[in-house]
Amino acid sequence: MKIQFLGAAKEVTGSCILIETRRSKFLLDCGQRQGQGAESSPEFQFNPREIDFVILSHAHIDHSGLLPKLVAEGFDGEIYSTVATRDVAELLLEDSAKIQKEAESGAGLIPMFTEEDVALTMDKFSVYEWDVPIDASDDVTVTFLDAGHILGASISVIDISGAGRLVYTGDIGHGHSPIMNPPAKLNNTDFLIIESTYGAKRHPAVNPKESLKQIILDTYANKGKVLIPVFAVGRAQEVLYILKQLYEESELPNIPVYFDTPLGAETTSLYQYHQNYLRAQFRSSFLKGENPFHFGTLDFIRGNNRSLDVASSEEPCVVIAASGMLTGGRILNHLKTTLEDPDSSLVFVGYQAEGTPGREILDGKKRVEIAGKEYEVKLKVHYIPGLSAHADADGLFSFVNSADILPKKIFVVHGEPENAEALQRRIINNLRIDTFVPEMGYTENFMDREVVKVVEKDVHLDFKPEFTKVGELEVYPFVGALLKKQDGIHLISKEQYIGILTETEEELETMLTKMTSKEGLEAETETETAEPVEEISETEFKETLLKYADVGIFSRSRARELKNMLENEGRDATIAHINKLARKDRLYPLDTTKQEELRRVLVAGINSFPQKARELFNEIVER
Ligand SMILES: [Zn+2]
Ligand SMILES: [Zn+2]
Repeated sequence: MKIQFLGAAKEVTGSCILIETRRSKFLLDCGQRQGQGAESSPEFQFNPREIDFVILSHAHIDHSGLLPKLVAEGFDGEIYSTVATRDVAELLLEDSAKIQKEAESGAGLIPMFTEEDVALTMDKFSVYEWDVPIDASDDVTVTFLDAGHILGASISVIDISGAGRLVYTGDIGHGHSPIMNPPAKLNNTDFLIIESTYGAKRHPAVNPKESLKQIILDTYANKGKVLIPVFAVGRAQEVLYILKQLYEESELPNIPVYFDTPLGAETTSLYQYHQNYLRAQFRSSFLKGENPFHFGTLDFIRGNNRSLDVASSEEPCVVIAASGMLTGGRILNHLKTTLEDPDSSLVFVGYQAEGTPGREILDGKKRVEIAGKEYEVKLKVHYIPGLSAHADADGLFSFVNSADILPKKIFVVHGEPENAEALQRRIINNLRIDTFVPEMGYTENFMDREVVKVVEKDVHLDFKPEFTKVGELEVYPFVGALLKKQDGIHLISKEQYIGILTETEEELETMLTKMTSKEGLEAETETETAEPVEEISETEFKETLLKYADVGIFSRSRARELKNMLENEGRDATIAHINKLARKDRLYPLDTTKQEELRRVLVAGINSFPQKARELFNEIVER
């Protein structure tokens, strides 16, 4: 196994790790770098066509942001994630494409990807719930566990045959959030890749609710505004929930609270839709028919004009807006009118990456540039740490320490050097585990023998392995071999066994594939029979497709995709693609009856009159 660190190495953003096993090549996350030194058009250090699949830990752009670029450059595998992560990622990636489009017409920057690339990316998702083992490839199984970070965020447990188990934390929560569960306990693992955003810091034992209340009361007394920059997912919902509690406890003055992030509003609805991912106590308010994110003085702002009105009004208020690090979004509307007002307050509730305006202000810079213009920072700057979505130094250490059997090797990522190195020192000093902070581009090669496990000296196989009946044959899976060496008996995997007998590797490989796969044996005796395709009239074909096109289910980008595919790859490939989309619930998500109708009509039409079908797709594209 080979692990290459291609992002978030000695820094926080741009998570991307390339893993090569004997039979697979895959990525852990494919995120975008943010802040200082972030290239507007980064190059991949690998060929996207060679990547078999991607494991996506969660939807934040620093973990998912380059997926559409990966797809646009030829990646054609599956993206594995939880259901909620896919849905949140869809919103964030669409938003990212939109921002790039605006930057193109504004500053002339060439977009990395378009909204269509995002649509194609969404088709590649293959989604699962937590705790379900997923066979990602011949030699890799992935299981997602709750990371307690944001909606859908997962710790990935990756079992690689012949190499052992690797756990990738993604981003992990601190366990005290009223909305998210505490992160799952660390499984026994051979290797661990752990985040270290707050590897050197302890979240002080302040109550974020109390701090926020005090800031609002003080600012209100001075007739100022309270600006709270947030990330649309995670912090935004936590802040809303706290404000609702304060409101209901009559602790807030009667001032308007503006939620000025349309993207945040959409993700807030996803929290309701995917409430099974959240803390049970929190979920109970949904079950009681309440909405834990709504309260009397809360006002969701939709249009940008309204946002500008609120920004230019003198009225004291609380504004929650994105982006969290002041790199864009509607928070800029409010900063422009409020930065120079000494009676107002700016409240940071999340991590500020180096090189962002948020970090500059937090570090005490007195003049900052916002959207090309310089402003003096006169308002009061606060930081409330307890609302972070990340574990702090103690949380990270106890995550490692809580494992029954400690990992053999640990890589510390997703942290600036002082944080990553502090966590590294603490683990080495207290737990004596080989712990390393990789640089960008660093590659670690593992010899498979490192994870060969020694078993008892006298081994008896007294169980009867399960077998598959193929005709008269009983086929037993070949899972490994016992190897007697000077230092004892070792249980080794199939792959390691093949590795030992290198001279005959090819022969053995062919033989083993035949022995172990039912399909392999059946393929010799049977040929695949294709399902009969139904007949359909041109009128029915046309009417049905237009019906779905009108309601936006059969989208223009889907029509373009099928048209191009018909032209370039032919009828059979297109039909196979449609069947695959339907199997993955992407043709008409959440309605199996309509999805089946759409699939049937598409397949029948393309099969009977491909030329007419192509023309109709074209018509839909050009509507
Ligand atoms: Zn995150
Ligand atoms: Zn992150």
